[in-house]
Amino acid sequence: MLKDNIIAPNPTEDDASYDDQIRPKRLDDFPGQEPIKEKLRIAILAARKRGEPLDHLLLCGPPGLGKTTLARIIANEMAVDIKQSAGPVIERQADLSAILTSLEEFDILFIDEIHRLNHAVEETLYAAMEDYEVDIMLGKGPTARSMKIGLRPFTLIGATTRAGLLTPPLRARFGDTCRFELYSPEELECIITRSARILNVPIQPDGALEIASRARGTARIANRLLRRVRDFAQVKGDGVITQEMADAALQMLRIDYLGLDDMDRQILSVLIDKFGGGPVGASSLAVAVGEERQTLEEVHEPYLIQIGFMKRTPQGRVATPHAFKHLDKTPPRRDNQPGLF
Ligand code: ADP
Repeated sequence: MLKDNIIAPNPTEDDASYDDQIRPKRLDDFPGQEPIKEKLRIAILAARKRGEPLDHLLLCGPPGLGKTTLARIIANEMAVDIKQSAGPVIERQADLSAILTSLEEFDILFIDEIHRLNHAVEETLYAAMEDYEVDIMLGKGPTARSMKIGLRPFTLIGATTRAGLLTPPLRARFGDTCRFELYSPEELECIITRSARILNVPIQPDGALEIASRARGTARIANRLLRRVRDFAQVKGDGVITQEMADAALQMLRIDYLGLDDMDRQILSVLIDKFGGGPVGASSLAVAVGEERQTLEEVHEPYLIQIGFMKRTPQGRVATPHAFKHLDKTPPRRDNQPGLF
C-alpha cells in the first residue's frame, strides 16, 4: 500500500506502464528500420535548423512494428507535444476541428489507422494540412454559417496498415512516406536484449536469439514472448533465459521454430487441404479459418509471405512448395502454372 491509499499497480501483460517502460524514446534507442531513421534524422535536423514544422509524414506497415513509437520519438526529437487519435474515433468534422485548434505551434497530430477516416473528416484535413486552415460552424439551424480560422503550423503523422486504401488526395498531401519492414532476427535480438535489460530479466544472447527468430519479424510479438518466456524461466528454472529455456517455453506456447502459431498453421492447412493449395480469395480463406479478413491480411499474411509460404496472386492466395513441405504434405502437379510449382 502506498501513501494516500493508492495501491501499487501490479503490472500485467497489457499494462500500459509496462509498455511505456520499454518503449524507446529516442531514435538512437530504436533498433532496426535503418533507412527510415536515416532520412528522419536529416529531416528533423533540417526542420529544427529552419525553425519550421516537420513535413506531414505517412507511416505504413503491419501492426506492431513501431509506427506509434516512432511518432512519439519524432515528437521528442523535435521537442514538441504530440496528440494521438485514430481514424475510426474522429467521427465528425467538429471533432477534428477541436483537435486541430488545440495544437500549439509545430505540435504533432498522430492519427492511427488514418485509412479509416470518413470522407467528410478527411476533406477537412486537406485544408488543414495544406493551408493550416479549418472551417468551423457558428450557430445552429438556418442561421448557421461557416467561418475559416487559421491554425498554428503543425505536423500530421498518419499511420496505416493498409496504404493501398488511402485516397490519392490524402496521400498526395504527405511530404514523405516511411514504409516499415519486418525486423530481422538480429534486430529483434537487439530489441529483446534492450527490453530485458530495462526489466532486469537475465537473458543469454542465444536465449534472446531463440525468441527473436520465433517472433515473426514483429517487435510487439518479440516483447510479448519475452514476458511469457520470463515467466516460464522463473517457474521452471532459476529465472535466467537460456536457449533451452526459451525453446521449452515457446514449445509450450505452441510456437514452432519458424514462429508460426496455431492460427498460421490452420491457415496453411485450410489453404492446402480445403482449397488444394489455392488460388483462393482472401474472404473465402478468412471464412474457412474463422478469422476476420482484416486480421488475416494484416497480421498473418505478411509473415507467411515473407518466409515464402504464401503468395498473393491476382487469382488469390496460393501456398508455396515450402508450405507443403512444412506441413508434410505433397504439392499437386500444376503443369499449367510453372511459376508456382
Ligand atoms: P505499431 O504502432 O506499428 O502497431 P507500436 O509502436 O505500438 O507499433 O509498437 C509495438 C510495441 O513494440 C511497443 O511496445 C514498442 O515499444 C515496441 N517496439 C516497436 N518497435 C520497436 C523498436 N524498433 N525497438 C524497440 N521496441 C519497439
